[in-house]
Amino acid sequence: MTLAPYACDPARSRGRRFFEEQAPTRTAFQRDRDRIVHSTAFRRLVYKTQVFLNHEGDLFRTRLTHSLEVAQLGRSIARSMHLNEDLVEAIALAHDLGHTPFGHAGQDALNDCMQEHGGFEHNLQSLRVVDHLEESYHQFDGINLTFEAREGILKHCSHKNALELEEQEPGGVGARFLFKQQPSLEAQLCNLADEIAYNAHDIDDGVRSGLITLDQLMEVELFGSYCRRALQEFPDLAAAGKQRRLLFETIRRMLGAQVYDVIAVSQAALTALAPSSTEDVRNSPPLLAFGADMRRLSTQLKQFLFRNLYRHPQVMQTNQLAKQMVRELFAIYLDKPNELPTNFGLNAGTSALQKSAPARIVADYIAGMTDRFASREHERLTGRRLLP
Ligand code: MG
Repeated sequence: MTLAPYACDPARSRGRRFFEEQAPTRTAFQRDRDRIVHSTAFRRLVYKTQVFLNHEGDLFRTRLTHSLEVAQLGRSIARSMHLNEDLVEAIALAHDLGHTPFGHAGQDALNDCMQEHGGFEHNLQSLRVVDHLEESYHQFDGINLTFEAREGILKHCSHKNALELEEQEPGGVGARFLFKQQPSLEAQLCNLADEIAYNAHDIDDGVRSGLITLDQLMEVELFGSYCRRALQEFPDLAAAGKQRRLLFETIRRMLGAQVYDVIAVSQAALTALAPSSTEDVRNSPPLLAFGADMRRLSTQLKQFLFRNLYRHPQVMQTNQLAKQMVRELFAIYLDKPNELPTNFGLNAGTSALQKSAPARIVADYIAGMTDRFASREHERLTGRRLLP
């Protein structure tokens, strides 16, 4: 597989924070991917909420299956555009490692708790996991990924946090947020694959949960147009017993249309600008994007999901309980640090943790929890069970 001149070439990687000899058979980015898959944080994704809490059903997406879907979409686009598929896979599999239990509700609650201690942001936390929190190697904290993988993992970053990163690592992963540069195309691609993946699977999970219906979805242009096409092709899909097949036939058409749109639009932009290196890409405007029409359709779908699913009273009610759990856990650990495990925080062997303020240590500990572990810990410490 030949790489485009603007793709990330592992032989020209900016390297790892701690020097390591090249592996004999794997490229630097394959090795990044392998390290992510073997990490503890990766295994936790299976019990972390995407939208629906883990106990609500076995078939809903979790952070793990979401990450696999992002990797699938990303790799498929990367291969057809001669971008680096291994790097895309590594970024996709790691992009949500820093997510708290209970999805965005958990992150919002933890961010509230951390207001006076520098805040909490899941993208930055994903970087913190791979740079500091994984404890596997003798010589360093974290899993020592390449610059390119770390750059992709840090999808957003506030100015304040970027300044802090820049101080620790001049010209490193924080720099682009200060100097208004773009990340690699592989990183840009993962952002888009993330959006394509969750828009599609949240429709699927939303319908499965009964919180949104196909009728409602027909008002959404992107969904409605592909649903009608599926029905034109296979009219018997209108039968009541075939709703799941109709949903899948619609979603696969939507996914295909978005993927082909990204490829066509981005390829045209790349041909027009003809960047000759990853540095050219970093100094150009974003090159990997939807066309204007698909951008509009995707935003409309996102707004629909926001109004009808993410803000559904039933979801909001569960989110309130999840937030309460996170807030109470935070207060208890801060008040009684002895409740933290002995290998964590102030007693831990890692320098990154020892140097952190107590509130950050508590946030790291809570952010690492799976939904069910957080629920159990909360019950152990409060004697109350908030979620089944
Ligand atoms: Mg994601």
